[in-house]
Amino acid sequence: MKSFHGKIQMVDLKGQYCRLKSEIDAAISGVIESTSFINGPEVSAFTAGLEKYTGSGHVVTCANGTDALQIALMSLGLEKGDEILVPAFTYVASAEVIALLGLVPVLVDVDRDTFNISCASMEEAWSDRCRAVIPVHLFGQSADMERILSFASDKGLYVIEDNAQSFGALCHFSDGTSHMTGTMGNIGCTSFFPSKILGCYGDGGALFTDDDSLASRIRMIANHGQRIKYHHDITGCNSRLDSIQAAILRVKLSHIDEAISARRKAAEFYDKAFESLDEVRIPYRAPYSDHVFHQYTLVVKEGPAVRERLRVFLESKGIPSMIYYPLPLHKQKAFEKTAVLRTALDNSCVLSESVLSIPIHTEMSDGIIEYIAENVREFFGK
Ligand SMILES: *Cc1c(COP(=O)(O)O)cnc(C)c1O
Repeated sequence: MKSFHGKIQMVDLKGQYCRLKSEIDAAISGVIESTSFINGPEVSAFTAGLEKYTGSGHVVTCANGTDALQIALMSLGLEKGDEILVPAFTYVASAEVIALLGLVPVLVDVDRDTFNISCASMEEAWSDRCRAVIPVHLFGQSADMERILSFASDKGLYVIEDNAQSFGALCHFSDGTSHMTGTMGNIGCTSFFPSKILGCYGDGGALFTDDDSLASRIRMIANHGQRIKYHHDITGCNSRLDSIQAAILRVKLSHIDEAISARRKAAEFYDKAFESLDEVRIPYRAPYSDHVFHQYTLVVKEGPAVRERLRVFLESKGIPSMIYYPLPLHKQKAFEKTAVLRTALDNSCVLSESVLSIPIHTEMSDGIIEYIAENVREFFGK
């Protein structure tokens, strides 16, 4: 077994900083020297960089990924009581903003294999009060956007992509074209939370759209509902990416391809180590998507008791692991009164009782990957 130094972490932000230190330090001190802390040239340069990388017509940066989702919903002219389809197996933010705005989250089941929104369940949960769907590209892989977009266009639904976890992933369509996650719906939203694929050193987020009038509405909402300073046309909010974060993100964006390759390399190693284990399912690769491995998530087939024993065993070997997510949204107290359920959510329930995410990040040495893989195999007696 190869050796390694230091503590194993789910995400190694310190190691990543050390590798990029000279560039990051220069970017941060450049902003401080310029004193252009809010909406400065770094924000415009990063925005332009994001437009180029994703091919999106308009990018509007904001304070965090949850704000991006909220602003997206605010921009669509929805009315209280309008229904929004959203998966039950996701991070709370995807549905929280719906309820916050007085809209109605209609919870939809996910696919057992991809962990992403199930199109059959979405179709079943639809009613004529539905105005939008929020597909979440969970763990690094695109939802089935071709089918979602076609359903949305049939029913006149807006599509808001929650791309907080899959920045940089591509979705392939049957006409041979490929599109970046976050650029296929009416609006895409992402988060620059430190542990995300493109993460900053604090909070940050962005919205993506090809629609000129939506883009201008989104800009206005994120800036106190004003187009002209001190002239407020609608009720907005204050949601900005600060310049220091933009400068850091600009450095990180220039290394994004290496970052994604490092994650894929670790995932391939894990796949080979685990594919012969009958007790776990390795991450399924949907034929219509590639994977950027925000998480490497195993399904422990025997369920919660074995998963817990595996988690404790790994912990005893100094290997952290996380359950994303231990409770589907319909079992969360916060949604007891607000969420609507019209379809069985069985896969969301089963997954929350059987998934376990193991460390994957941009700084994994061969030694660490092998150590983790061997310990998982050892737990299952291999
Ligand atoms: C991280 C995340 C968000 C929210 O991002 P923040 O920047 O933390 O507000 C939203 N949706 C999903 C799926 C996420 O993983």
